[in-house]
Amino acid sequence: MRAALFDLDETILDRSGSLRDFANWQATEIPDSSISNTTLFVERFIELDQNGVVWKDKVYESLICEFNIKGYSVEDLLNTYLERFRDFCKPRHGALDVIQAFARKEYKIALVSNGKTPFQENNFQALGFNEFFDCVIISDAVGIRKPDKAIFELACKSINADISASVFIGDNPVADIKGAKDAGMATIYVPTDPQQEPCRFADKTFYQLSDLAAHIEANK
Ligand SMILES: [Mg+2]
Repeated sequence: MRAALFDLDETILDRSGSLRDFANWQATEIPDSSISNTTLFVERFIELDQNGVVWKDKVYESLICEFNIKGYSVEDLLNTYLERFRDFCKPRHGALDVIQAFARKEYKIALVSNGKTPFQENNFQALGFNEFFDCVIISDAVGIRKPDKAIFELACKSINADISASVFIGDNPVADIKGAKDAGMATIYVPTDPQQEPCRFADKTFYQLSDLAAHIEANK
């Protein structure tokens, strides 16, 4: 049995778009005139987040200070993020087509995400792809993070997939692509930025998921 393993953030979840929508809502939700410039709040939120590298307690600490937000603690804003971000989660364009294309070729499908539980599960559930997935693995729950090859092995083992016949699809050249390659998998690199340099650990690269879906349909 072969499997297609997916990363979550920026691979099947349009994280940057979802975060922008969430930040915009949060700025207007805080009934305090301190955030008079919503656009600036959203831009600073996105900058401070650094594509998810910086956890939100640090982001909110800075935002509270920079925008002089009164009446809200870091914990208040963080709790709102944890509880409400899922409501803004939207799939990356073409994600469903890729998942369905692999499913039609009788691949088992799994998610392997670095992140916190249950936060990442909630975000994944919000996409509505659950019915296609045989397994969901979040690093926080298993105590192993990509690019450690053990997490790819664990995912394949849990769905009885042959790791050498399986493929990983992700946008991070190291955590996803190098990690999966080290584990003995085929790799498909799907960067969102068309300027992104090629990754030497990638067997294939697609900048548009619709192109990847067409490629899967055209192959065995
Ligand atoms: Mg990612």
